[in-house]
Amino acid sequence: MSASHVQRADFDQVMVPNYAPAAFIPVRGEGSRVWDQSGRELIDFAGGIAVNTLGHAHPALVKALTEQAGQLWHISNVFTNEPALRLAHKLVDATFADRVFFCNSGAEANEAALKLARRYACEEFGEDKYEIIAALNSFHGRTLFTVNVGGQPKYSDGFGPKIAGITHIPYNDLDALKAAISDKTCAVILEPVQGEGGVLPAQQAYLEGARELCNQHNALLIFDEVQTGMGRSGHLYAYQHYGVTPDILSSAKSLGGGFPIGAMLTTDAIAKHLAVGTHGTTYGGNPLACAVGEAVIDIVNTPEVLAGVNAKSEQFRSRLLAIGQATGLFSEVRGLGLLLGCVLSDAWKGKAKAVLDAAAAEGVMVLQASPDVVRFAPSLVVEDADIDEGLKRFERAVRQLTA
Ligand SMILES: *Cc1c(COP(=O)(O)O)cnc(C)c1O
Repeated sequence: MSASHVQRADFDQVMVPNYAPAAFIPVRGEGSRVWDQSGRELIDFAGGIAVNTLGHAHPALVKALTEQAGQLWHISNVFTNEPALRLAHKLVDATFADRVFFCNSGAEANEAALKLARRYACEEFGEDKYEIIAALNSFHGRTLFTVNVGGQPKYSDGFGPKIAGITHIPYNDLDALKAAISDKTCAVILEPVQGEGGVLPAQQAYLEGARELCNQHNALLIFDEVQTGMGRSGHLYAYQHYGVTPDILSSAKSLGGGFPIGAMLTTDAIAKHLAVGTHGTTYGGNPLACAVGEAVIDIVNTPEVLAGVNAKSEQFRSRLLAIGQATGLFSEVRGLGLLLGCVLSDAWKGKAKAVLDAAAAEGVMVLQASPDVVRFAPSLVVEDADIDEGLKRFERAVRQLTA
């Protein structure tokens, strides 16, 4: 069989079996619509897992990528480059940060954040200050360090000895954080909305209290905004929604709108601890990735798009709530902006995958976040007509499933 005739079955033959992809293979996308090999059209409310910020094949992103492709693809960090410097300026201008470190993924952005926090504490306060506090059910990536920091044993067990000095506490439980934090803590890392863990937003008082406690113990507050970042919350970053400023912020997913890029943002005083030679990555600040990132932030960080996120969020919420109540599938829709989770009712707990499959069969792509939550992470500029049609298909799927 020639390479041009690959099918889903080839996955089971030639790919490492760590994923279980859907039965169909998407081949083309435009806006919030995707077509598979057979020409079947689907509406995309999954957004490549909160990545395709501006949908598929957005003209401004295609232009940025192809123009840069004709100029310079890669030059390494032996040199700097114009797209990286421009994107760094834009991120610094739009946030609390003074400094940016570019990499290629969310895990790498968190890896940099955590290494920086340990280095900062070591140099400022001594070698005993290395402990990291993270939340149960959190997700911070799949490198050994980040998966150990993440609060989901099913992802971190079975890989030999764990990284020392990591404590997990229940999310949104300020007393638990107060009990766990000490002068040995170098960092507290939190997702402003737990994404993979079930689209669970932080309580306002929790993030405010975490900020206080970090100040009291000279610990750095790291916000993992890999999933909540780049407009998804209705603000450029979710910390701006809460008005609680971290010391380090990690960004990826939506930052590249589908082109791989990650970034770690921090202040001058902290950044200086990553001196020449202390950390790096070959592709970090790649010109193609940064050119696309620039186009993404130029479009997303505008009042129209951010206000649109909130308006579209309301459309999703009210329609979803009605569907959930009419069918008994779920009674709670939670989240921020266009990161929404339908919390399955007791009778349907553990069955999020069945909802995904039913939705895909009706021509709409949605996600799960844990086995108990159906997650929506559509394009921030999803057209009203696509919302309408996609939710009609979702309702059909849910009605059939629950009939
Ligand atoms: C997806 C995700 C990551 C990991 O990002 P990768 O690009 O897959 O490495 C880290 N943190 C959060 C909150 C995420 O949602």
